[in-house]
Amino acid sequence: MKLLFMGPPGAGKGTQAVVISKELGIPQISTGDILRAAIKSGTEMGKAASQFINEGKLVPDEVVIGIVKDRLKEPDTEKGYILDGFPRTLEQAEALKKMLADMGMTLDRALNLEVPDEEIIGRLLSRAQKEGRADDTEPVIRKRLETYNNSTLPLIEYYENESILRKIDGLGTPDQITDRIREAIK
Ligand code: AMP
Repeated sequence: MKLLFMGPPGAGKGTQAVVISKELGIPQISTGDILRAAIKSGTEMGKAASQFINEGKLVPDEVVIGIVKDRLKEPDTEKGYILDGFPRTLEQAEALKKMLADMGMTLDRALNLEVPDEEIIGRLLSRAQKEGRADDTEPVIRKRLETYNNSTLPLIEYYENESILRKIDGLGTPDQITDRIREAIK
């Protein structure tokens, strides 16, 4: 099963991707996690990415496309995977489509977790207190939402046109949302 989890920052993509990836026995591939790990270990890629992340902007397409291309070559992706936070631009979506076509594959479902903006800001501010993520401050959160609305929202229509989009109500308890996802990927 090849899945894509979409939605604004703080929609619960990561939380849900962890649960579903365990259930299905497939890896969760989060470009955000990979970038944060690169920053932590001080690689050149990490150094280049950190400024974009701290300003709530997108890391350049060629960087994240390269990350995903390499990751999808790993043997643990054979049974499928959950892409969490990628693609975030139309260019990334097109690159993914080509990558998959070259491997003779297609995505099974793109799930969009829908959560209103006001709820998002509250959730991210409370995550900031718990996890201390550098990009969870209010001005950066607002910028990340703006980036999402400008660059990533068009992907919903893109995957709707590909007939694999499923909209998931992202309000409720984590368990309720997991149930909705299970239903959508049956
Ligand atoms: P996330 O953990 O998915 O919220 O990602 C945190 C930050 O990493 C984002 O605000 C971006 O700066 C960067 N990032 C993660 N994934 C991507 C992507 N697919 N394209 C561009 N930037 C990304």
